[in-house]
Amino acid sequence: MAPDPISKLPDVGTTIFTVMSALAQEHGAINLSQGFPDFDGPAALLERVQYYLTHGFNQYPPMAGAAALREAVAAKVRDLYGARVDAAEEVTITAGATEGLFCAIAATVRAGDEVIVFDPAYDSYEPVVRLQGASTVHVPLRAEAGFAVDWQLVADAVSPRTRMMIINTPHNPTGAVWSRQDIDALREVVAGTDMLLLADEVYEHIVFDQAQHQSMCRYEDLLARSFVVSSFGKTYHVTGWKVGYCVAPAALTNEFRKIHQFVNFTVNTPVQLGLADFLAGHPQHHLQLGDFYQAKRDLFCSLLRGSRFGLEPSGGTYFQLLNYGSLSGEADTELARRWTREIKIASIPISVFYRDPGELTQPFLRFCFAKDDATLSHAAEVLCSL
Ligand code: PMP
Ligand code: GLN
Repeated sequence: MAPDPISKLPDVGTTIFTVMSALAQEHGAINLSQGFPDFDGPAALLERVQYYLTHGFNQYPPMAGAAALREAVAAKVRDLYGARVDAAEEVTITAGATEGLFCAIAATVRAGDEVIVFDPAYDSYEPVVRLQGASTVHVPLRAEAGFAVDWQLVADAVSPRTRMMIINTPHNPTGAVWSRQDIDALREVVAGTDMLLLADEVYEHIVFDQAQHQSMCRYEDLLARSFVVSSFGKTYHVTGWKVGYCVAPAALTNEFRKIHQFVNFTVNTPVQLGLADFLAGHPQHHLQLGDFYQAKRDLFCSLLRGSRFGLEPSGGTYFQLLNYGSLSGEADTELARRWTREIKIASIPISVFYRDPGELTQPFLRFCFAKDDATLSHAAEVLCSL
């Protein structure tokens, strides 16, 4: 008889992104569920990767990542955010942001510790915290106020066991973006504590309406206690490459790499070298990303104005929440599945990102608008007919 695996995560199933994408494929639905573009990365980037792939750059790069790419990241955070980070000791290239999040948590969170997360929370955070024998403390965002943070609730959630707070701005799945006031409130909460910050900034370049992305890299005092994680997949329309990075002070990076070296060791060479060339040669690409996606957000939202959905235009990311309260009383998990089958549009239910879904007082589905305009127009037409 096969041994019982004695699951470490008995209540964890397959991630909703995999479930909904598979359902979309099964039913031939337009897939606005899992977040990925339906267009390719820049031709010049593909060309650089192909160059390295076909010119013998196919063996292990350094454990922490190719020096040229780490230097390009250090230059980017300096130019954009004014951060002075050492490419050798404070930047690590990871297998997507997912690996960065895992390593930061595994390197620093111990059994018995508490980690503050904001609900709705991206689904990879909690299982990784629990694998360390630690627990998550959930602070609900204020759905009635554009999913803003209630800083009094955050202050109340802090305890002597709080080891880390996981921050995500621009926020998946709501599209909420932190303001300068949030930074001031964060400063007050962390003052006098030794709490670490894990900043998931994968949508750092996708911010709309002239807002400024509040990176931890902007604030020397906050960066001193932060792991800042980002993803080239979002920025260069290449989610399938799974390459990201983590910026953190040298002492934190040192601990981070102790985990990274045994989870992945390093990340494939041709993509790293190709990205390094592209960042150096096209520093304007990420500066235009906000406008690029804002046009898609505006198109999608304007087409939906005539629909029965309630909507507040997203402040960042490539996701738009739609409130379906006046169309259906079904649970979002049921409705997302039914609409994938029946109207052939797949979306993501957001209640799955709550510890207590009862805290979600309004019914929303999340739609990804990182799609060709024709696809968005067709999807909007179907949604308007409901
Ligand atoms: N964090 C958030 C908030 C995300 O939306 C995603 C992916 N879409 C990730 C982390 C993971 O990024 P990657 O694909 O680079 O691992
Ligand atoms: N982050 C993407 C999303 O929110 C999905 C990533 C994944 O499938 N793991 O849709």
